[in-house]
Amino acid sequence: MLSPDKLTNAFAKVEEENWLLRGFLKEQSPNQVDKIVNRLHQEVFSKIDCSACSNCCKKIVPILEEKDIQRISSKIGLTSDEYKDKFLVADDDGLGIKEKPCPHLGENGCSIYEYRPRICREYPFTDQKRTGVRLINLIENCSVCPAVFEIFERIKRYYKVEFAEFKDEQQIFSWGGEGDDLCEEFEEWEVESEFFDKEDWAGLVQYRYSRVKDYPEQFEYQWSLGEAYVLNKEYEKAIFYLYPLHKKHPEDPNVQHSLLDAVFAMGKDETAINWIVQPTILRLNAVVLNLCYRFLKGKRKPRTVEDVYLELLCEGYLTFDANQLMMLLLSDNRFSVTVGNEKSYDSYVKVSKNR
Ligand code: SF4
Ligand code: SF4
Repeated sequence: MLSPDKLTNAFAKVEEENWLLRGFLKEQSPNQVDKIVNRLHQEVFSKIDCSACSNCCKKIVPILEEKDIQRISSKIGLTSDEYKDKFLVADDDGLGIKEKPCPHLGENGCSIYEYRPRICREYPFTDQKRTGVRLINLIENCSVCPAVFEIFERIKRYYKVEFAEFKDEQQIFSWGGEGDDLCEEFEEWEVESEFFDKEDWAGLVQYRYSRVKDYPEQFEYQWSLGEAYVLNKEYEKAIFYLYPLHKKHPEDPNVQHSLLDAVFAMGKDETAINWIVQPTILRLNAVVLNLCYRFLKGKRKPRTVEDVYLELLCEGYLTFDANQLMMLLLSDNRFSVTVGNEKSYDSYVKVSKNR
């Protein structure tokens, strides 16, 4: 893995190729891209010591939520207002740390690690869903985070043959044309983020509806409108809209999962849909426990319950959250679970010694 001081030069050499990779990934199934990036995240971060790197804490200023401010200020003996005055400044994105490197960065890494801001816990976002819409940000992060840089290199190796063919097809790579596309997509991403941040699902439906009208052939736009109907609690409409898409793309997990979101939200189960291809649905039972056991067996270091949950996300549709998974793991003596304050994020699990 590259050390942070080598990253700027290394990134300069691969930047153009990384943008091409992004074009290639956009043509793959979003769910598959999520699976691969999430798996690589586990692999890469199991070998990296963030406290010895801390490059993100030196190069990026985190934006804090009100909950972060309350938690951190109370732990360090300040009122929220005192904390804001001392450490934060407002900009278009919200309240962010005033300076770089972050003043909470100590000699051995983050001095407020256990109660650090949510965004610091989630950075660099490679273990989350919907990686496809974050690709622009992730590429920018290749020059900051050695792990993200490595994940991109491993994606290239994973898709070695297909990506080589894709590059051959792009006989002339024009920065001009591509630049226009990038701007458009970045704007799209920004608009979407705003709807998500404000939980303005009606606005999201309208926005995505207009995109489908403009690009009626784009499958991704079609599915994402269905997803917006679900978020806006228009479940019947979502099913009516998504089912023909499922018939056309019966194996697509995004469509399958949005249909499941809709039927479950209506208090029904999966039999309400006449599936062309049955989705994999995971429930809190022995199957899930065995999958967790398979994943954790042979691993020397414990994993957070959140990590295990993300691993399961690659296996199918989950009908439970990470904290419910933790309770299930606690009930099985094959696992040893250390429960933390923030539940799944800082609770660790491993296979018990005698197993
Ligand atoms: S709060 Fe901690 S983890 Fe977040 S940027 Fe500052 S030092 Fe890094
Ligand atoms: S998240 Fe990336 S940049 Fe931040 S400390 Fe870990 S490896 Fe370094």
